[in-house]
Amino acid sequence: MNLETYKSKYKPLKQDLESKQLEINSLSTGCKTLERILDTIDGLEKTQERYSKRRKQVWGGYDYDPGKYDKAYFYVFSANKDEVIVAKDFKYHQYLKCDKCKKEQPLIVSYEQTADSPEGDTWEANAFIICCDKIQPFQTYVEADRFLTIE
Ligand SMILES: [Zn+2]
Repeated sequence: MNLETYKSKYKPLKQDLESKQLEINSLSTGCKTLERILDTIDGLEKTQERYSKRRKQVWGGYDYDPGKYDKAYFYVFSANKDEVIVAKDFKYHQYLKCDKCKKEQPLIVSYEQTADSPEGDTWEANAFIICCDKIQPFQTYVEADRFLTIE
C-alpha cells in the first residue's frame, strides 16, 4: 500500500468522526434535558404527596419542610421579578409564553436550600416553564431564609 493513501484516508474519516461527535453531543444534550423534565414531573408528584401528608402538630412546626431535605416543586400562584408565590393547591395559575411556539405554559418553581452553615443559609427558587422539549427559565430568587412558606 502506498503510504500516501493514508493521507487521503484520514481526512474523510476525521470528518465523519467529527460529525458523529456533534450528533452524539446533540443527543446527549437532548437526553439530559428530558431527564431534567422527567425529574421535574417526578418532583411535582413527590412534593404534592409530601405536602398532602404533612402533619401540622409537630414540635417547631410542620413535618414537611419543602426544599430542606428535597428539591421541592410547585406550580406558581403568582410571580414577578422580585417575588414568587407558590400554588398550594398544585393547580395552574400563572402562565408564561413559550419562546418558540408562543403557547402559554404553566409556570413551575423548584425550591431548595443551597447553603446551610453558621455563616448563613441560602434558599433558592427557580421559576421556569417546560415547552418544546426545553426548560425555559423565567427568574431565579435567592434569600437568606425560607421564603416559600406552606401552611
Ligand atoms: Zn413551545
